[in-house]
Amino acid sequence: MKILIAEDDAVSKRMIESTLARWGFEVISTTDGMQAWEIISSASPPEIVILDWVMPGMEGVEICRRIRKLEVGSERYTFIILLTAKSELKDIVAGMESGADDYVSKPFDPQELGLRIRAGKRIIELHNQLRRAKEELLVLSRTDSLTGMLNRRAFYEVLEKEIVRSCRQKIPLSMIMLDIDHFKKINDTYGHQEGDAVLRELSSRIGSAIRHYDVMSRYGGEEFIALLPGVDVDAAANTAERFRELIGKTPFESGKKRINVTISLGVAQLVKDEKSDVLIGRADEALYKAKQNGRNGVEICSS
Ligand code: GH3
Ligand code: MG
Ligand code: MG
Ligand code: MG
Repeated sequence: MKILIAEDDAVSKRMIESTLARWGFEVISTTDGMQAWEIISSASPPEIVILDWVMPGMEGVEICRRIRKLEVGSERYTFIILLTAKSELKDIVAGMESGADDYVSKPFDPQELGLRIRAGKRIIELHNQLRRAKEELLVLSRTDSLTGMLNRRAFYEVLEKEIVRSCRQKIPLSMIMLDIDHFKKINDTYGHQEGDAVLRELSSRIGSAIRHYDVMSRYGGEEFIALLPGVDVDAAANTAERFRELIGKTPFESGKKRINVTISLGVAQLVKDEKSDVLIGRADEALYKAKQNGRNGVEICSS
């Protein structure tokens, strides 16, 4: 863990440095408040900082205030220990109010400072664990657990953004909605587990056929939507045709079973000032037409 020491008194700076290095910390030090601030606001800041209250460049309490301001709205937390020769209660209160987590009065015992730093390290580690857990939960909340694709909620978010981007940059945006044909029969014939395996295999076949900026989502049970930025309706229809072949041409294998799967697809391109649900509705309309026309086919909803 990286620690910054900002202390203009050479003797105590050296004492802290050697104590911390002995304890295995990565130590950076400076004697100037302005330089301390530069290090803190850099791309790889220290997680623990020890700030002298009085030093040239910038005072420790001012750095404290700036750190807390910088942290607002970010996932970052810095553990701050203020070093001070001031020992009156009103000074200590002012120091803590500037955002410090702890303070140590000078002259200090290195052993005591070390103990306080260890407490800070525990807090930072806890904070990092929570942050990682939060990130993992965010990914999980956007992902369909069976197929690993975006779930419906996350898809709506992406769709709104892509619609805005398409209008602003004046590039086309197309959508392919697809639905497995007679999936109920697959479940009834082979069982629900095999049905799940079909959904996973279909996701992986289609996932490997799209460009990295296309967005694939599981829209419902056996319904998927691909969003194709920068693609017009004719090109999207070609892609849909490719998807259809990818699924229908080669049977899905599971153990000794070979399951024939086909899909029906509906394609629509965003028109000017169109709302997301209207676009989805048109893709769904085209899909419905493909079902009506005997399934295993692609239909376009012309604007
Ligand atoms: P169509 O060609 O008209 O689309 O017929 P279909 O049988 O595919 O459509 P229907 O809407 O009648 O049935 C869809 C089936 O998909 C019913 C439902 O049990 C099944 N299903 C939905 N989600 C899952 C899932 O996660 N796993 C499995 N195995 N089946 C699912
Ligand atoms: Mg000083
Ligand atoms: Mg369906
Ligand atoms: Mg179906």
